Amino acid sequence: MKRAVVSLGLVVGMGALAGSPVSAQTTAEVTLTRFDCGTPQAPLDVNTRFSDTYSYAGLKLQFVYSCYLVKHGDDYMMWDTGQSMSAGPVAPRVGLVDLLAQLKVAPEQVKYIGISHYHGDHIGQANSLPKATLLIGKGDWDVLTSAKPPTGVNPQLVSNWISGGGNVEAVPLDKDVFGDGTVVMLYTPGHTPGHHVLLVRLPQMGPVVLSGDLAHFNENYENGGVPIFNTDRAQTIASIDRIKKIAANTKATIIIQHDARDVGKLPPFPDSAR
Ligand SMILES: [Zn+2]
Repeated sequence: MKRAVVSLGLVVGMGALAGSPVSAQTTAEVTLTRFDCGTPQAPLDVNTRFSDTYSYAGLKLQFVYSCYLVKHGDDYMMWDTGQSMSAGPVAPRVGLVDLLAQLKVAPEQVKYIGISHYHGDHIGQANSLPKATLLIGKGDWDVLTSAKPPTGVNPQLVSNWISGGGNVEAVPLDKDVFGDGTVVMLYTPGHTPGHHVLLVRLPQMGPVVLSGDLAHFNENYENGGVPIFNTDRAQTIASIDRIKKIAANTKATIIIQHDARDVGKLPPFPDSAR
């Protein structure tokens, strides 16, 4: 009798674990689609600005600009919005709204825009989805709305929300977007004060982490490398360490958004990972 009670307790305990956000079961369909959100330029010499330890003498890498559509049941979320359509040579060939139209998604159907960080190559087309609620790290929102934003930070790209034209949620730490653990913004400061990566749990592919600019290429992710323009070196290294541990514990696929070598980890547009 006593033994039966003990094993019941064990079963209940395991059930409680299975219901935690870390291993959430959900009935909502979740898919992930990559968009080209900027025009790639010639391969970059990454030793000049992307390493503060001169780690990559002579290494040139192809950068790309990625943003992503997450479908969660009947709701849609954009993760980053890429370059602006007026960004010159790096402007996207096809805009976000037109790419959504190819998937038969109207701009009004996009409930959330999740932003990894405030740089122009990640918030460039946010204003084209003005009805969406903007989810952005509090540290980054504070900079965008400060009296004197630093050079290279352009608040005009999110003017719809700064002017009160749309709802904004400044996210201080992690944010479980749909409340079921399938789509979670993870606080990973260092590149900027309020930087986040996005964890998406896909039923077939398994967990995927979209890097934002936690690292710009695989070598910096592997080595804990820090670009010279990051806002905090120690935070960057701690954030990379956190995501490496999460990836190991959940067997997540890491997708470095700017690294051309990672584009093939998801099916080519218009196909979705499931
Ligand atoms: Zn970037």
